[in-house]
Amino acid sequence: MSNLGAGSAFRAGAHNWRRSLRGAVEQFTNILLPPMCPICREPIGSNGGICTVCWTTLSFIEEPLCDHLGTPFAYDPGPGIVSSAALARPPVWARVRGAVSFDHSARTLVHALKYRDQHNTAKLMADLMARAGAKLLSDANLLIPVPLYRFRLWQRRFNQSARLAQHMQSGSGVPSQPHLLSRIRPTQAQVGLDLASRKKNVRNAFSVPDDLLLQVADKKCVLIDDVMTTGATAEACTTALLKAGAARVDVIVFALVLNPTGRHI
Ligand SMILES: [Zn+2]
Repeated sequence: MSNLGAGSAFRAGAHNWRRSLRGAVEQFTNILLPPMCPICREPIGSNGGICTVCWTTLSFIEEPLCDHLGTPFAYDPGPGIVSSAALARPPVWARVRGAVSFDHSARTLVHALKYRDQHNTAKLMADLMARAGAKLLSDANLLIPVPLYRFRLWQRRFNQSARLAQHMQSGSGVPSQPHLLSRIRPTQAQVGLDLASRKKNVRNAFSVPDDLLLQVADKKCVLIDDVMTTGATAEACTTALLKAGAARVDVIVFALVLNPTGRHI
């Protein structure tokens, strides 16, 4: 056997050994912690999915949509038509797409990732986001997750938006750049605030560091977040990216709040 052949055989053997070990660890973990649906917590076949019953409870957002706000129309008004809400208050971003409407099931899934450390749900959520935002991703240059302030990141140990963007990078090939946008001051949690307070809370809270401006200049950016409620956070992030010279900013979220009137979200 040549050296090359011996090396290849060794690598193949090591690869198979690692795969077997990973399979054994997975089986052992499944015995200790059987995979469960992150929404209803009933047992399911494998990690990372949801049960068929909960799947039917997700409210997928489908076309026809307002191109700017991503909100569904009750009927198809034809290409290029935007909603009256977008006409009344044109957004700073170009387009938003959400995979699902924010309801009980969507909220449970988001909370499973964010607060219950069920990271297996991130790939499923990212796949649904990539499907909803396929058109936006087709010519995008960068995925930019909404950043957490450093203390919040330290508390939570991970940024759920960065985790989603990481999975979307694997699926789409568009690189995720979680360090290009910074949250430069702490902000109050948006839950419980009305639109005016939310906007004030996040105004000037985001920035692209001077030494990274060139990496954003003239780029088509896609901002990634788990939920969009009033759009105040996305607006503040988009404003910072456009100020840094981005050519275009689109937004893809997992769940879109279609009637953001309540303060409980
Ligand atoms: Zn379920």
